[in-house]
Amino acid sequence: MAKILIHDEYVKSPDKLIKLCPFNAIEYMDSKLSINSGCKMCKLCVKQAPEIFEFVEAQIRGIHKEEWKGVAVYMDHVEGNIHPVSFELIGKARALAEKINHPVHAVLMGSHMEHAAEQILKYGVDEVFLYDDVALENFRIEPYAACFEDYILAHKPSIVLVGGTTIGRSLAPRLAARFRTGLTADCTFLDVQENTDLDQIRPAFGGNIMAHIHTPNHRPQFATVRYKIFDAPEMIKTPFGKITKCTLDQSLLKSQIDVLEVHAKEKSESIEDAEVIVVVGSAFKKKEDLNMAFKLADLLDARVASTRPLIEKGWMDAKLQIGLSGRTVRPKLIITCGVSGSVQFVAGMKGADQIMAINIDKEASIFNTAHYAIVGDIYEVLPKLIERIENERA
Ligand SMILES: Cc1cc2nc3c(=O)[nH]c(=O)nc-3n(C[C@H](O)[C@H](O)[C@H](O)COP(=O)(O)OP(=O)(O)OC[C@H]3O[C@@H](n4cnc5c(N)ncnc54)[C@H](O)[C@@H]3O)c2cc1C
Ligand code: SF4
Repeated sequence: MAKILIHDEYVKSPDKLIKLCPFNAIEYMDSKLSINSGCKMCKLCVKQAPEIFEFVEAQIRGIHKEEWKGVAVYMDHVEGNIHPVSFELIGKARALAEKINHPVHAVLMGSHMEHAAEQILKYGVDEVFLYDDVALENFRIEPYAACFEDYILAHKPSIVLVGGTTIGRSLAPRLAARFRTGLTADCTFLDVQENTDLDQIRPAFGGNIMAHIHTPNHRPQFATVRYKIFDAPEMIKTPFGKITKCTLDQSLLKSQIDVLEVHAKEKSESIEDAEVIVVVGSAFKKKEDLNMAFKLADLLDARVASTRPLIEKGWMDAKLQIGLSGRTVRPKLIITCGVSGSVQFVAGMKGADQIMAINIDKEASIFNTAHYAIVGDIYEVLPKLIERIENERA
């Protein structure tokens, strides 16, 4: 890491030097100047008192990229049921691996997971690394991290993809910190360069810019991706990969956590799984007016979802929010009603097969994303749409 060095021997007026820092990061204690964690590396102190403050560049650790080979996917599961995001990541891993001629690895931990490992092979991975032990029955961070670390140390994958699930979000940062490497969370686009550097793109600063992130000096390169960002690959008829059983010393499988009971979460059909979605936006003036959208959704066998303002008003459940700080959906059809099309909203739905937008303002940015545009008042368009569908059904 870069740092600011202090040459104490030249310090004459510490009070004046303290004032140089706009972030109160320079301190004077026990006749010594020091820099605290508030330092933003703005280098103002270096410019104003170069004889005292010296900026020292981070020492770049050399890395032999060719020694790191493989695109690995962490197979996220609860009680042996693999989360679909892991299959989506296998599809992306395959595409990346083909570009750099690397193998695709799946890393699976759990108890009695042989059947799951066989299933994974059907998605076209080259090798499943299976840590199967009763101690791994439930997810507990210490033994799972130990297995993952063991796999990385032994096989040195160049890229590690992890689903942006509750488990993945706990596991990936711990591993990235252990290997002193970078992790890009919630990527929405991934590609790879010839030199095996991963192109990681994700929205940043509230979705106003798309950050393009590289990890050029460290391996492996960790990225998490949320469910429904990529397509799951087709299953292959003749799996070609193999299962490699891995074991770890029992002392490394110990945990401070005892899982006493596992309660299944109440099952509710999530908007991520819906094939047709009707989205309600701020154009609705009263909560009761949402009934128009619910009626349309009933007719189309669709789910109703929402933009953020309606969640904030308490009109819709937070689980129904689409967007950057909500859910990502990829339905066959999405109909937005009175939605402006902010970047934060569009980030969560632009992967839909067909997008139809209803908005009174012909300049609304949702029309830049939509395949079908209806310029009109939802209070006129929705009743007409409902009537027409009802008539046609009749
Ligand atoms: C960090 C961050 C994260 C965010 N995350 C999300 C997120 O995940 N999801 C999300 O949705 N937002 C998110 N937002 C908020 C986002 O910026 C927008 O404010 C929000 O998406 C706007 O919602 P809207 O389109 O319903 O409302 P508005 O932007 O107010 O748009 C209402 C639209 O309705 C149209 N309209 C008005 N009356 C009618 C009518 N009678 N008939 C037809 N059309 C009409 C208007 O022309 C307008 O285009 C986030 C913001 C930040 C800063
Ligand atoms: S680099 Fe900037 S933030 Fe850090 S101590 Fe100097 S003036 Fe303060």
